[in-house]
Amino acid sequence: MQRVYAAELGLDRLLELSTGADLLPSKEVLQHARSSLIPAISKEGLGLSNTVKHLKEDVVPALNLASQLPNYYGFITGGVTPVAALADNIVTAYDQNVQVHLPEETIATEVEDRALRMLCELLDFGPTEWPHKTFTTGATASNVLGLACGREFVIAEAARRTKKGPVNVGDLGLAKALRLCGLDDIRILTTVPHSSLGKAASITGIGRDSITLVGLPNAPHKFDMTKLQRILQERTSGYIVAISCAEVNTGLFATSSAAEMLELRELCDKYGAWIHVDGAFGLLVRVLEDHQYLNIRAGCDGIQFADSITGDAHKLLNVPYDCGFFLGKHRALAENVFRNSNAAYLNVGATDTSFIASPLNIGIENSRRFRALPVYASLTAYGRRGYRDMLERQVKLARGIARFILRHSEYDLLPNLEVDDERRLDSIYIIVLFRAKDDSLNKDLVKHVNATKKIYVSGTAWTGAPACRFAVSNWQVDVDRDLQLVTDVLDRVALAASHA
Ligand SMILES: *Cc1c(COP(=O)(O)O)cnc(C)c1O
Repeated sequence: MQRVYAAELGLDRLLELSTGADLLPSKEVLQHARSSLIPAISKEGLGLSNTVKHLKEDVVPALNLASQLPNYYGFITGGVTPVAALADNIVTAYDQNVQVHLPEETIATEVEDRALRMLCELLDFGPTEWPHKTFTTGATASNVLGLACGREFVIAEAARRTKKGPVNVGDLGLAKALRLCGLDDIRILTTVPHSSLGKAASITGIGRDSITLVGLPNAPHKFDMTKLQRILQERTSGYIVAISCAEVNTGLFATSSAAEMLELRELCDKYGAWIHVDGAFGLLVRVLEDHQYLNIRAGCDGIQFADSITGDAHKLLNVPYDCGFFLGKHRALAENVFRNSNAAYLNVGATDTSFIASPLNIGIENSRRFRALPVYASLTAYGRRGYRDMLERQVKLARGIARFILRHSEYDLLPNLEVDDERRLDSIYIIVLFRAKDDSLNKDLVKHVNATKKIYVSGTAWTGAPACRFAVSNWQVDVDRDLQLVTDVLDRVALAASHA
């Protein structure tokens, strides 16, 4: 076996060739790839050159270009900045295992720590506000961390209140800990959560059914403070308040001022509740400064009052999968949950006097990829200005698309907030939800749009009917060029339907 690099194999060239290509592979290409997959491991192996040929000719053409091209608007995928791609190749080549802080052996944990501090600076958080910070595999994993810490916290609070002495879920398990401190269960109080919150609730033993919606009837993404307080007062459960910042279907934020966040904080302090913010893609709004973004910026005001925050780096930060991050206020509590205490040889870092925790004691994994490096490289290369410019382009494109839809005779912009058009546009972040006025077009709208293969949108449901959703998240967005393409496609789809 000899060492080889992507450049020698010409694989980097393949990426350049994708410009102008279709976003999705054709049925034929997919079928070809499927039938050429190696049916079983071969005794001797195919060897390097045959395998490279197979990858290049059969597998690569059947991958989609969601990240490569700027016009994929499905889910929220982001792309990969050039410097993040380069750094990710270094990560693979040097294959560091970033689980224990070993300052005499590798700089990796210090780079990770610096990258996390730079992220906090980017997001305008104080340098010491988040002592429990770590990279994760994504926002789902960060939500698991948030709920696991919240679970530990609300039980410790209940034990303190009922003078039961320290009760620790990490050691006792959830059932015994709940019994000891006299709680029925843990409940998650939220408004329109991301689906991964239910998964995180399941993994942490809190349970999907514990999720209780406390939204306002006419604005389900906002908290009904009266209802929230009424539930917190019951005190029969431990409570985690989960804030959707922002909501994935509409891009709307659950809170809209520091005063509102402070009110939540005071309420939660009073009842020993934990506040977790899911800011997977909403968090980055904190880099925006211009007055035209004040409305959405307010959705992140005061989130430093939370106990924990979820962020995604493989979305708007435009680094490769998989990379999320987690910011928490309670590091000692986190070590109760995540401490990997059984293997003494792994705890070398714990005696080090520097403040860097061994990642294996504050997060889910033991062995971990050096996923901090692409974040470090990208923040270093583009700085605060670069990220602000990138996000401004994305918001401008989203607002351009929304404006076009508002004025179009065949489409409706959603949700139909009862405010004037300019206010509606001001509340657009990077997501545009809409549908066709005509039911028969609307039924297949996503299919027609995606059939062009030039842009791609996600389908969803809104108030009981199908709806279509743009999520703008690629670093390569060019507002004029991309708006032209999007509006051409939407016009073409509407016109074809009127002639059908
Ligand atoms: C995407 C997303 C998630 C899940 O993120 P993954 O990175 O896919 O794990 C969670 N919450 C919100 C709000 C999201 O947008």
